[in-house]
Amino acid sequence: MDLLYSSTRNSEKKFTASQAILKGLADDGGLFVPESIPALDVSIEELSKMSYQETAYAVMKKFLTDFTEEELKNCIDRAYDSKFDTPQIAPLVNADGAYYLELFHGSTIAFKDMALSILPHLLTTAAKKNNVKNDIVILTATSGDTGKAAMAGFADVEGTQIIVFYPKNGVSPIQEKQMLTQKGANTHVVGIHGNFDQAQSAVKKMFNDKDLEKVMDDAGYQFSSANSINIGRLVPQIVYYVYAYAKLYANGDIAKDEKINVVVPTGNFGNILAAFYAKNMGLPIAKLICASNENKVLYDFFTTGEYNKNREFILTNSPSMDILISSNLERLIYRIAGNDAAKNAGLMKELSETGKYTVTPEMKEKLTDFYGNYTSEKETGEAIKKLYEDTGYVIDTHTAVAAGVYDKYKKETGDTKTKTVIASTASPFKFTRSVMEAIDSKYASMGDFELVDELSKIANVKVPQAIEDIRSAKILHDTECDVDKMEDTVKAFLIK
Ligand SMILES: *Cc1c(COP(=O)(O)O)cnc(C)c1O
Repeated sequence: MDLLYSSTRNSEKKFTASQAILKGLADDGGLFVPESIPALDVSIEELSKMSYQETAYAVMKKFLTDFTEEELKNCIDRAYDSKFDTPQIAPLVNADGAYYLELFHGSTIAFKDMALSILPHLLTTAAKKNNVKNDIVILTATSGDTGKAAMAGFADVEGTQIIVFYPKNGVSPIQEKQMLTQKGANTHVVGIHGNFDQAQSAVKKMFNDKDLEKVMDDAGYQFSSANSINIGRLVPQIVYYVYAYAKLYANGDIAKDEKINVVVPTGNFGNILAAFYAKNMGLPIAKLICASNENKVLYDFFTTGEYNKNREFILTNSPSMDILISSNLERLIYRIAGNDAAKNAGLMKELSETGKYTVTPEMKEKLTDFYGNYTSEKETGEAIKKLYEDTGYVIDTHTAVAAGVYDKYKKETGDTKTKTVIASTASPFKFTRSVMEAIDSKYASMGDFELVDELSKIANVKVPQAIEDIRSAKILHDTECDVDKMEDTVKAFLIK
């Protein structure tokens, strides 16, 4: 029997995993959730002997039940290959009593690679299974990071095209160079004369345009999205929690069935939700520690039961967590509402109309798996400096939010004994300036690439290929356009 999926806002209609991956978002605006969370059916002894790829198969086959063994293994092997700079894919590093799970060894040196390197293969396999004859065209508006990671994942994947729009004057020079040097005959990058919101709105409009859909279909194309709410991004993220647990066991760091804590630097709530799913599959996890930066909507939610996005948006040094609407939280809300789609839909309606909602006391009681806290910008910097000075290990600003929150957790709860895994979501080289200035203010006067070499020296870590690439790579894309010409630009790329 296949595990079926339904929307968090309507449980009536059921979809197979491959259909849910193809659709991305449900038509009613809800997120796809499995009817139930499957249990892991391999023992910890077996898992402890498995490679990352084998673990991925053991976990993902439980969720993506309409994929054949051959199909799924094929996707896994193509995703987790030499694009990663270590055969371990997601290594664990022990520093200052915690285990840092390094999720940044893929092509763009941040954790989005863990899912975006497999999504293109899941998507093209899903298309074949559902007799989709058209090529899939991924349309994305990006404020910087996701566009690059998505392109890296889709580059030269047969049967796909990817078109990324970014605000010409709204991304950092490094982010722009990363995108403009992207290889792959099927990748297209466009700098638009406008801001991110305008890019995003125009992309949404293209998705919903029936005339454009017909034009594309006649030319052999259909649009799809690589958005972070796609179940094809969530499921691959469960894998590394299982893998980390099994490695701790294999190394003798934990006993059989010993519970661990997991700390996750959180923005859109996708990564920590994957840890929650891992726990519900049977992985012995005690607390799920949700770490926020100064945009602490989630901390307030876990403390008060009220989710309220009506507040100032703060730009921090951990920009990938600067979010006021954590989309994936909806999957947790649905669950603590007792899988009640109508109840969840009501709360989401309140959120879109008033910017806030409050869960009932009964729902709040079901949040005891979670602990939430946040760090100020100052505390984030101090966490980087302290860990470096105590151990020599250098972490990025996002991971530092998690390290700072873990410290607060220990002080507040007295729980210093439970072994703890901290999700390390970006290489320090991705945020070199913030990291180096946190370690010593003397670095403020140095140039960007000088700082990269200095970081390499003090951390005793080789400069990652992704950074070397930016230094030397050729610019391969030069398209720019006005916001009202985005559709014409798409047609010009695809229809010869
Ligand atoms: C996206 C991202 C996060 C936040 O992850 P979510 O799944 O959105 O909660 C944290 N750190 C880095 C470096 C990221 O790129």
